[in-house]
Amino acid sequence: MDFATRAIHAGQPADPSTGATITPIFQTSTYTQQGLGENKGYEYSRTGNPTRAVLETCLAALENATHGLAFASGMAATMAVLSTLRPGDEIIAGDDLYGGSYRAFERVLRPMGVVTHYVAARNTDDYTAAITPSTRMIWAETPTNPLLTLVDIAALGKLARERGVTLVVDNTFASPALQNPLDLGAHIVVHSTTKYINGHSDVVGGAVLTSDDALYDAIKFYQNAAGGVPGAFDAWLTLRGVKTLAVRMRQHCENAQRVAEFLQGHPLVKHVYYPGLAEHPDHALAARQMRGFGGMVSFAFEGERADVDIFVRNLRVFALAESLGGIESLCCHPASMTHGSIPQEEREKRGVTETLLRLSVGIEGADDLIADLMQALDAVAATHKAQASVR
Ligand SMILES: *Cc1c(COP(=O)(O)O)cnc(C)c1O
Repeated sequence: MDFATRAIHAGQPADPSTGATITPIFQTSTYTQQGLGENKGYEYSRTGNPTRAVLETCLAALENATHGLAFASGMAATMAVLSTLRPGDEIIAGDDLYGGSYRAFERVLRPMGVVTHYVAARNTDDYTAAITPSTRMIWAETPTNPLLTLVDIAALGKLARERGVTLVVDNTFASPALQNPLDLGAHIVVHSTTKYINGHSDVVGGAVLTSDDALYDAIKFYQNAAGGVPGAFDAWLTLRGVKTLAVRMRQHCENAQRVAEFLQGHPLVKHVYYPGLAEHPDHALAARQMRGFGGMVSFAFEGERADVDIFVRNLRVFALAESLGGIESLCCHPASMTHGSIPQEEREKRGVTETLLRLSVGIEGADDLIADLMQALDAVAATHKAQASVR
């Protein structure tokens, strides 16, 4: 079945007891059992809840996975995957990754004896060179955050399988509508469902999808043991959100392409990062690996941090906020917001400078978005002009 059809129907038959067309919110912690050892498949909602189970089945179908597990946040999903590692194991990760994942690797995993080596995200040879006998996992995010470079999933999948390493792809930025890493050789997909999957900026959630039975068993065990599960209402909201993922993503891509092309021609813009631009170094890989170029656009100012501040204060449609993937447009300053937990020196080395902004382009009218960016850029230009005349 087509992706859009699966998003609406996979795992979501009418409720057998009432005929309810939409999956009910099973707001219960416990389940009445028929007799000793006899129940209807549910005993306690940390272990399993019918609303959550429907979400897990649907998300698995969207990533072409056999198994799905839902979590209370993307980080809870990430930690559940990392729980499969033991002291002495090593991870190789791309150097341009979600700040919270970096924090988890450095401040949670490293003190427990699991060391992460960082390599240039787009360079497959660097991953090969970094493999040691202790390497257990490769952690990839593509497109990367916030610089939107691409990682060649098929190449890493081949490497991981040759070397007996688990390849994990954080697919949050692309969403399953645009990219399915398991089809390209990854073992596990992680999502922050907070972003495109729910898509309405009203739930925090996460998911792990895999077709590997042993990894599924280990991560499911951890889900129940550690307990970072979503409540029934959050699972239901996410299910409601994901139904429109296909149409939303189409519009995100269309709007982001227009925004990127507008920014590219502006004199106050030094560089635009968007895989949909022909000039993007990974444009060909993006065209091969993804079904669209996504809704995220980053750009660097020709100027200073003060210009960035004037710009963000003047935005009217775009909101200055962390997060991404919702229907509304957001603008984020990674150096002080999402990537604030990465030391400044490390940040600058990676290209996450003080003048870099990341846009999550929403599905409002593209003309309104461009007009908003234009008037905020005009405000920066007007300030420059006023300062010049004072001097
Ligand atoms: C937001 C995000 C996460 C963390 O997800 P939460 O739901 O905020 O815990 C992980 N990876 C990426 C790429 C993200 O954007």
